Amino acid sequence: MTQSDQDPWLLTPGPLTTSIETKQAMLHDWGSRDATFIETNRRVLDRLIAIAGGAGSHVCVPVQGSGTFAVEATLGTMIARNDKALVLVNGAYGSRMVKILEYAGRPCVTLETPEDTPPGLDDLDAALKADAAITHVVAVYCETTSGIRNPIEDIARISADNGRALIIDAMSAFGALELDAKNVPFDAMMASSNKCLEGVPGMGYAILRRSALEQCKGNAHALSLDLYDQWMAMEGNGQWRFTPPTHVICAFDAALDQFDAEGGQEGRLQRYSANCKILIDGMRELGFETLLPDDLQAPIIVTFKMPADPAFDFQAFYDALGKRGYLIYPGKLTVAPSFRIGCIGHLGETEMRGALDAIRDTLGEMGVTSGNSGGAPAA
Ligand SMILES: *Cc1c(COP(=O)(O)O)cnc(C)c1O
Repeated sequence: MTQSDQDPWLLTPGPLTTSIETKQAMLHDWGSRDATFIETNRRVLDRLIAIAGGAGSHVCVPVQGSGTFAVEATLGTMIARNDKALVLVNGAYGSRMVKILEYAGRPCVTLETPEDTPPGLDDLDAALKADAAITHVVAVYCETTSGIRNPIEDIARISADNGRALIIDAMSAFGALELDAKNVPFDAMMASSNKCLEGVPGMGYAILRRSALEQCKGNAHALSLDLYDQWMAMEGNGQWRFTPPTHVICAFDAALDQFDAEGGQEGRLQRYSANCKILIDGMRELGFETLLPDDLQAPIIVTFKMPADPAFDFQAFYDALGKRGYLIYPGKLTVAPSFRIGCIGHLGETEMRGALDAIRDTLGEMGVTSGNSGGAPAA
């Protein structure tokens, strides 16, 4: 993979490293009412619906901003003021959705588990059976806080069996982890141009069940975040209501070409899984420990426990890796001190091995003998 000379490799949850082709697709200006642009916009939305397996049943409605804007728009549009949400929380992104619902004044309860623990499926079933007022289950597919893959197929089945709608924050999963509306029934799923589809940041979107969205007129608490209104307007004239992120959309179209060429979701999952394995194997050789057991780990971002060696200093470690061209990410956990290394974006084996070399060099420079969080020397 090639990269213009001085850009660092982004081993983070986003923004992510993008390809030269994706960046080059932005070297133009487009009018928002221009026929070519309107066509590109339509094509991008159709491609997203197809990736989600929603052709015929679902529509795609975009919104300007980062992923959180799409989450806030979706929750506010799909959940009416007299509905009630049950949010499954095991990390910061689940908690953020609770905060969004509180801002919007939507009744909401939570089912919370620690950051290294998936939601209890029996508990979910019992919570739904105990409270008939709950209309929507709200879940995070890959909780980027830890990198855990939540059991979305089971959550969808239990929600459907209990006759409740499901809303999925699939931000860091969509395009890499399997998610097909035909097997995992959902009313809404949110993601962004960034993350696993490897576009540039600036646009979020929701894939919404058409029959559910049709009932959502007047729900939204904010005009700019009203996905029903955005949908109606775009159905009418193909245009965004307000200035569209033209460059983001055209770059996204190019990124989706590369996604197709790589073999779609399966191809991407394969590359990210290989990246993740190289990373975890290499880090374990250096004594580091992952927060999660391998069977809960999504091949998206990996949480490592902070080494106990007194010579280790995270800020110095971070800065030294940055100087070598690799940006990692601080931890966001409450359960344990940690840091994170992502394996998504336009990265492959060369970059993952390069990152491990940089980590090994940096540890040597710092005089750290092992990455082990218990302080024991590496085996
Ligand atoms: C990245 C991410 C978001 C959105 O974050 P933004 O910073 O607003 O783009 C939401 N949920 C999850 C699970 C994410 O990984």
